[in-house]
Amino acid sequence: MSDGGRQFPCEQCGAKVEFSPGTDALACPYCGNQTHIPSSNEGIEELDFLETLADHLGEDAETEEVASIQCGSCAALIEPSPSHEAFPCPYCGSSIVAREKSQRLLKPSALLPFKIDRNRATELFRGWIHKLWFAPNALKKLAQLDGRLQGLYAPYWTYDADTVSAYTGQRGDNYTVTKTRTVTRDGKTVRETYQDTEIRWRPAAGRVSRGFDDMLVVGSNSLPRDLAEELEPWDLQNLTLYADEFLSGFTAERYQIDVKSGWKRAIERMEDVIRGEVRRDIGGDHQRIATLNTKHSDISFKHVLLPMWICSYRYREKVYRFLVNARTGEVQGKRPWSWVKITLASVTAVAIAYLLYRVLEQQ
Ligand SMILES: [Zn+2]
Ligand SMILES: [Zn+2]
Repeated sequence: MSDGGRQFPCEQCGAKVEFSPGTDALACPYCGNQTHIPSSNEGIEELDFLETLADHLGEDAETEEVASIQCGSCAALIEPSPSHEAFPCPYCGSSIVAREKSQRLLKPSALLPFKIDRNRATELFRGWIHKLWFAPNALKKLAQLDGRLQGLYAPYWTYDADTVSAYTGQRGDNYTVTKTRTVTRDGKTVRETYQDTEIRWRPAAGRVSRGFDDMLVVGSNSLPRDLAEELEPWDLQNLTLYADEFLSGFTAERYQIDVKSGWKRAIERMEDVIRGEVRRDIGGDHQRIATLNTKHSDISFKHVLLPMWICSYRYREKVYRFLVNARTGEVQGKRPWSWVKITLASVTAVAIAYLLYRVLEQQ
């Protein structure tokens, strides 16, 4: 994945060929010639987490010295384009001026190739914008602009681990009690009985164990985590062994959240699942978890690249993003609201209500 090493000339005419989404081939935009990329899901390596940390990213087979360019506005680290052309930052839309940075990073071991192509992503983007209520007109205009969408491989970590968790807490069971109350009926005060539900709490403690496979954590600082996690699920069972060819024609981001920091997020995500498991183990109608102690073992990980289409636009000094999962076509985005339109709509609603009131009053 060294700088400039990813130029793939067409075997027939020598033009620069790009990966063709939805296929396993590079396609020439001029003569249509296709070059098949040998893809395989065999040999995708899981690395041992503790061993890798102890190695301090030494000069072994799993790491490489890479050059990146950094966005001056949002600090995203992007793989330099082989053609050295300037391009807009996928995350903030500002033009990236080359600020080169060299560092030793873990190599990606696998990726999911693009399945959704640019045309389909553009259609999805337009559909998303047209469905928005109260969107500023400026945003609707953006939808007409082609070429704003960038195909991006975002860096991710996937972690595997075995866990054993000891917990203490309480189990609550509902039970029905008959109570009496005083009510006024037909002007008379009467006492009546009724049924009420109460909870009986008892102490609970136990142990649950669970193995995790491919717990996903985004390795980018620039891709907002909530947005990234909303793009899930990914079909990780279809991961393909990393090959430079798949990246041809797309932008690739370097990870900035390293494997150790990513693990912290993986622990949180695993804990969400474990808490659900603990609740099931406690049983009853209600559960309270007081303490939870999890031991992780056999931790391994992979560095993978996942494909998305991204459009970042500035609107009134704020950056908004639109994302498409380039495997499933799922769309996520943060959008600006037009306060002018909202105010107009509210004023109109109040006016209509007032008119209706007047009309009904006269009847
Ligand atoms: Zn060609
Ligand atoms: Zn940027």
